[in-house]
Amino acid sequence: MKQRTCVTCGGRVHTPKREGAVRELAVRLSRPATYPAIYRLLHSLSVCASCLESLPFIGEEICRQCGRDMRAERYISEGRCRDCVREADEPLQGNRSLLRYDQDGKSMLSLFKYRGDERLADYYGTLLAIAAFRFYTLSGFACIAAVPLHARRLQERGFNQADLLAARLGRATGIPVQPLLRRTKETEKLSKQWGRASRQESMREAFSWDERAVLPGGACVGSDSRGDDHQNLTKQIAAEIGFLLGSWFSLRSAISHDSPANTASPSNHRKTLPAGLPKILLVDDIYTTGSTLRSCARTLRAHLGPVCKIYSLTMYE
Ligand SMILES: [Zn+2]
Ligand SMILES: [Zn+2]
Repeated sequence: MKQRTCVTCGGRVHTPKREGAVRELAVRLSRPATYPAIYRLLHSLSVCASCLESLPFIGEEICRQCGRDMRAERYISEGRCRDCVREADEPLQGNRSLLRYDQDGKSMLSLFKYRGDERLADYYGTLLAIAAFRFYTLSGFACIAAVPLHARRLQERGFNQADLLAARLGRATGIPVQPLLRRTKETEKLSKQWGRASRQESMREAFSWDERAVLPGGACVGSDSRGDDHQNLTKQIAAEIGFLLGSWFSLRSAISHDSPANTASPSNHRKTLPAGLPKILLVDDIYTTGSTLRSCARTLRAHLGPVCKIYSLTMYE
């Protein structure tokens, strides 16, 4: 069998030290219910023991809104960071990220974004799945949606890194992946120098609802034939949420057929849809100011009504 090499340092992945490192980290990142899934995901990462140990995982003290590491924050109010306290109209229920964005992360991410390296897609997809099990109760999500690229950018690059991540996250969690959004406005690259206000402004109305988003009941992305316990469990969850989302989409189209004017009125959704449904998980590679994810969440809520709860998940913050 071919020896796997570490995506970070190029060394051998499987060394005697690795099993201990995986177990230790799995304990740190999980609750009893999520330990088996997180252990399995860590085990499958193409990373050696020392690179695994040096990954900058965001700790326990996080902003309860954006998930930022709060250890270095000086201003904290009711568990939220300064930026989240200032945000007047917050369409996201919350964001969670797995790693701090350091220099190593920066170089790895640009390799992935501009070359679309398959091994890095697997690596990052697995990290996102770890983050999903670590921070969220997954059975509540109706679907996963990637932050889309503008058609022109997509043509230049040939792939959307968030789509690759969403597909892998879908496979690992059993949650169906849906193209819910389209990017209608080509935004400038958002560099660090940009102020928060200009980022928010540039992202305003950058997305629209994707009309391809019609889900057949029970459709699921992410099942394969391995048939072990985890796969069976995720298949079962996928079938259930696929069914829920399917019935919910039919309900929604029934509403819009009866009275087309109602689609723009959120209060109608609130009356008709079952409480607590649906939750959607948005996926992107990095949370900087959150303006991209917020803009996506606003578009989804404008289309689906405020009953829809939008959460997000990124590798870096
Ligand atoms: Zn390594
Ligand atoms: Zn925050």
